[in-house]
Amino acid sequence: MTLDPPTILILTIALAAAAALYLAVEWRSVREPSLLFWAAGFAIISVGSTLALLRSNGLLMIGIWLANGLLVAAHWLFLLGVARFTQVRLSRAWLLMLVAWLGVLLLPSDLAWSKAMLMVNSLLVALPTLRASFLLRPHGRSLSIGAVQLRYVLLLHGAFYMAKALSVIIPGTLIDLAAFKGEIIQVSLVEGAMAIMLIALSMTGSERYRREQQIARLAARDPLTALYNRRALDVRAPQLLAQVSPQQPGALLLIDIDNFKLVNDLYGHIAGDRLLIALSEMIRTVVPEGALAARLGGDEFVILLTKASTAQIVELGSRLREQFQQLAAHTFTTPAPVTLSIGANLFDQPPPSLTALIEEGDTTLYESKRGGRDSIRLVDRTGTGSYG
Ligand code: GH3
Ligand code: MG
Repeated sequence: MTLDPPTILILTIALAAAAALYLAVEWRSVREPSLLFWAAGFAIISVGSTLALLRSNGLLMIGIWLANGLLVAAHWLFLLGVARFTQVRLSRAWLLMLVAWLGVLLLPSDLAWSKAMLMVNSLLVALPTLRASFLLRPHGRSLSIGAVQLRYVLLLHGAFYMAKALSVIIPGTLIDLAAFKGEIIQVSLVEGAMAIMLIALSMTGSERYRREQQIARLAARDPLTALYNRRALDVRAPQLLAQVSPQQPGALLLIDIDNFKLVNDLYGHIAGDRLLIALSEMIRTVVPEGALAARLGGDEFVILLTKASTAQIVELGSRLREQFQQLAAHTFTTPAPVTLSIGANLFDQPPPSLTALIEEGDTTLYESKRGGRDSIRLVDRTGTGSYG
């Protein structure tokens, strides 16, 4: 089988169409606009490659100028997709690329026409591709593995087109666009087919990794308060608890709203929800860096501290209780006060498990409730030489 230019072009048409379909199907389930830009880019490459076949029939305007123009437009769409993906606003100056392509029509059709055409076309493909790769460089928010792959594939593809543009100035280079003659054209056709596969795969990879991260983030959060849920706490607590030592005691604070049912019963579930959200905001503002805060369920919250001390627990607990009591008393009138009960345990040995620690916290919290609510009960296990 000979891989003559028309055969490679037919392969390119099929690959680009498949990539467009693949990304469009992906878009149908994810609804991420960048996928739509990328799918449109590949669809345009498929059309452009079909038109490129027509140059053999003598249709040079359509087969060369229009076909290559569509290749430029496709890379421009890739850039738009990457800008969308990275949430960067592109300068309107990029529209000038399309104007530049119209300017190519003014090139005199002499012997150097093929070379000038190839050079402008290659530069107009290289620029948006390299810009897209640059947008994907690591910045503030770290990028997923998929996006890093896309970055390098685009970088290589852009660099290839830059080299293609420069190859024109090497004396003696043969370029005949109308007859697909010249080594650079042959190499470029093969590179094009490979690039389609790699770019399309890393585009879907980028979106999939991002979606997985989003799902993982959502799965770790309580939907009402956006604090960690019990599952996320189970995953994160062991690392924190392993650091506990007599020099760095740990603490667990279990927090439960007193008479919360009254708010639900008298003011409705939505008012109850708002109070839970307000409490979670207070918790977020008082927890020190490195600590963990989570909603265990219902009106029960937990804070896990490292490098804790009795004074710190009392200070933190009192601040929370005061703030919450003020808000609740100001917002609701209830037969019994809506306040906070806190059960806190201070320990200097890693506990056998988080569950054991929470169970102990529950006992302390229960004592606080039994003692009349609206209070903090602290059990200090440091210096006892054992946990529990
Ligand atoms: P106690 O003083 O003994 O803590 O009693 P309480 O009235 O606060 O009630 P308890 O802690 O025993 O139960 C928590 C209640 O919180 C039960 C349930 O109706 C309510 N609740 C649980 N989850 C939610 C929620 O997501 N939103 C709202 N609005 N209420 C909830
Ligand atoms: Mg309660």
